[in-house]
Amino acid sequence: MNINVDRMKRRFQQLNKIGRSHGGGINRLALTDTDKEARDLFLAWLKELDLELQWDDLGNIYGVKPGVDDSLKPILIGSHLDSVPDGGAFDGVLGVLTGLEVIETLKENQISHRFPVGVVNFTNEEGARFPIPMTASGVLSSIYPKEKMYHLHDENGDTIEQELQRIGFQGKEKNRITDLEAFLELHIEQGPVLEEKGAHIGIVDGIQGLSWQTISVYGEADHAGPSPMSYRKDAGIAAMRAMLSIHDWVNHLNDGTLVTFGKIQTIPDTINVIPGGSKFSLDIRHPDNNVLLKRQEECLKRINDIITLEGCSWDHESLSYMAPVSFHPPFVKELEQICRNNDYAYQTVTSGAGHDAMHMNQLAPAVMVFVPSINGKSHNKEEVSRWEDIGPAVDVIYEWIVQYNKI
Ligand SMILES: [Zn+2]
Repeated sequence: MNINVDRMKRRFQQLNKIGRSHGGGINRLALTDTDKEARDLFLAWLKELDLELQWDDLGNIYGVKPGVDDSLKPILIGSHLDSVPDGGAFDGVLGVLTGLEVIETLKENQISHRFPVGVVNFTNEEGARFPIPMTASGVLSSIYPKEKMYHLHDENGDTIEQELQRIGFQGKEKNRITDLEAFLELHIEQGPVLEEKGAHIGIVDGIQGLSWQTISVYGEADHAGPSPMSYRKDAGIAAMRAMLSIHDWVNHLNDGTLVTFGKIQTIPDTINVIPGGSKFSLDIRHPDNNVLLKRQEECLKRINDIITLEGCSWDHESLSYMAPVSFHPPFVKELEQICRNNDYAYQTVTSGAGHDAMHMNQLAPAVMVFVPSINGKSHNKEEVSRWEDIGPAVDVIYEWIVQYNKI
């Protein structure tokens, strides 16, 4: 192995002292004092490696090692240092530390590379404090306007712009790196698939798309006692029948479609009143855009049929639609080949969760590498990945960088 796992582990331990609660969870919500502390440590490491460092108006921090040909665009490797409340130690951090480790190994081995190679930490990936995940990479790739990001506020009313200024990380717009050769992100899988398949590395070929809807059902509220069952227009029961029907149908399809009803509410939410209204959320996911659109249409048709049959009416609000992302196929193939050359047990997978690489893929060819999450746990203190898996995964990225830069 080329990279130094122990060095990476030391950085990991040092970084995760910041924001660790007594219970063991990590609290580094975006642009809080603990996030600032992590950023300062990251900056110190960038300086130690003598990298060209800068941060932009979105608070993204970059450290770049120049290449032999300074007319070429940089290759960036990175992820995020922010966390959810009481989150895990590996999420995001590993991707940033991968960038540092790859660059330090290039230096140590005195590898001359044509392209500049840089590491990046993105602002507010989690969306836990300011409610749009992957905000800064989204603005960077023109998915959202900067104003939308700046005006996002936490529950105290503090905005991203104020907090960027407060912690001293509002840089200049000209410092953004949007013209790049390639983007790579190493991340924990956050699910159980790799572990189940006995794979130690995941080569990620894309990210599945998602459709979010809120469904409102309208029935008639009546007293639970005097109203015979057959006369009722129970909006709660209608919603439940629709949810169960969709759930069973999708389960039966077994084609990679995922549906989740994460929020369910009856109105007026009282023990002795037949629900006159109800609301539920519908989250549909699939890696293929045509299938996702079709499933969305079919779900809404099912909802219509069942709710009408129950004597109720309904409407829906589309909250979000994110088309699936395909990562750059040649990069996927090259990374797979490196795994085979090293006899690493790998599996090519599609990510179930969104990541900064999804937005960066709009700016440049991108790809991701996953390491298994033990028991699929993530976003809590039980989030663990094994260093025996992390080392080889980082090394695959290092080898890819060396190979891509062959002169
Ligand atoms: Zn993450």
